[in-house]
Formats: sequence, structure tokens, C-alpha cells
Amino acid sequence: MFKKGTKAYSIIHKTCPHCQEGQFFVDNNPYNLSKAGDLLDHCPVCHRKYTPEPGFYYGGMYVAYALAVALFVTIYVATQVLYAEAPLWLLATLSLTGLFTLGPWMYALSKIIWANLFFSYKGVQLTAEELEKQVKRG
Ligand SMILES: [Zn+2]
Repeated sequence: MFKKGTKAYSIIHKTCPHCQEGQFFVDNNPYNLSKAGDLLDHCPVCHRKYTPEPGFYYGGMYVAYALAVALFVTIYVATQVLYAEAPLWLLATLSLTGLFTLGPWMYALSKIIWANLFFSYKGVQLTAEELEKQVKRG
């Protein structure tokens, strides 16, 4: 559906935002809670780092917040359409159930979306600019 080279491809297939071939997460199943949202240090295919600086993925909280708001709005609108006189306790129960059910998935999704906001597709081979940087570093 989404072509390789688009950010949506990397997000949907949970692949490296740089080359879109290597795995991004330690475990692609976000419901394996002991490893939920854990990233590999670098891409196993193109060997580019996933974390440019310490604490880089704290910014993913903004994405997670936006996803949670989108979930609450969806639940609210769906409830209003199906049962306009829904009491507050029902809305709260549905919202919390949705959040706990989709939480691990949204947590992982927020990290790959955050990474894709900052990294762009470059292909497996290092670009001329990246090679130049490596030479300068020695
Ligand atoms: Zn890669």
C-alpha cells in the first residue's frame, strides 16, 4: 500500500527509518511487555544509529500524547453516535480500557513515528555526506 521510501512504510512495517530494511525494535510484538518499545542500538542492515543523542526518544512522549488524545476523541465520538446519553462512568471505562489495551502498541508507535520525524530515507548504502563525516572522524 505504502511504497518503500515513504515514512508511512517505515512506521507500518516497523523498519529502520534510514534504509527501511532492518528491524527497529528488539521485539516487533509490542505486547511482549518486558521488551515493549525497546529499540536496537543500530540498524542490523545499514548499521546507522537509532539514537543520535541520549534522551532522544523522550520527545516521543509528545507523539504518545497526541495518539492518546486521538484515541479518546475517537471513543467519545463513537459513544456519542451509538449511545448519545452515555453516562460519564461509561465514557471513563471505555477510555481507560482503550488506553490499557492499546497502550503498549501506541508506546511503540510513538517511538517509530518520532524517529521518522527526524530521520529520512537514505537507502542501505551510506550517502556521500555520511562517508565524508566518517572520514573526518577518522
Ligand atoms: Zn537501516
